[in-house]
Formats: sequence, C-alpha cells, structure tokens
Amino acid sequence: MGFVRLEVQRLLKAYKTNDPLTIAAQKNITVLYEVLGHNTWGYFSCMNRIPIIHVNNKLGEFETRFTIAHELGHRILHPKLNTPFLRRNTLFSVDRIERQTNRFAIYLLIGHEQPDIGESVGSFLSRCGIPEEMYNFYS
Ligand SMILES: [Zn+2]
Repeated sequence: MGFVRLEVQRLLKAYKTNDPLTIAAQKNITVLYEVLGHNTWGYFSCMNRIPIIHVNNKLGEFETRFTIAHELGHRILHPKLNTPFLRRNTLFSVDRIERQTNRFAIYLLIGHEQPDIGESVGSFLSRCGIPEEMYNFYS
C-alpha cells in the first residue's frame, strides 16, 4: 500500500470517521464558506498559525466534501508546502502533488467501503458517490 493510502488508513483509524468536515474540526482547522468565483473550489491558508480551509460556497455537496478532503490532504501530506488554489481544472493537473492530493481525497471519501466480489471499479466508485471524471484517482 502506498504512502497516500497509508495516511488515509491512519486517519480513518484515529478519527473513526471518513467525514472530512469532522476530521478538520477535530484537527482545529476552521472551514469557511466564501464567494470564490466560478473556477476556484477552495484553498488552504495558515495565518498567525490559524489553519483555515476556504471553500467556495456555491459548490454542490460532493464538490464541497471533495474540496475539504483535498485541502485536508495538503495539510497532512505536505504541511511545509505552499499549495495552489484548488480549481476545477486542477482535477486534470499532471502536477505530482496535486494528483497525490486528489488521490488522498478520493480514498478518504471512499472510507472503509470495499468493492464487492466481481464488482467493476466503475460500479464501486459510483456506489461511493465518486463522479466519473475522478475515477482515475482511484488506482
Ligand atoms: Zn491542491
């Protein structure tokens, strides 16, 4: 199991939930819903050592959870890095850090769900509520 999946397993065990909002709250990370325009889904900031996840308040339910999971991923996987805004087109980014963080978010949102015997990847991910454009982060 790779580094990203191990980190997700560790989180699921420590917080006994895969809900990114609950995990953020328990890590004392504030989540703020803001007007961020059409393309930006969210970003992470840390001012005066107060960590904040900023989320576009126009996103749908899945995108909101995905954005919080993604920014939480940066905080856990890359605490020393300054990370860019999460934008719609970041989903197709080839940047290693962004791809890694998208994988983290997908595995967190899947949580403890497992594919049934003989179940296709597509059927499994759709059952977990993952949109098709994100299937390639499950690998
Ligand atoms: Zn990112």
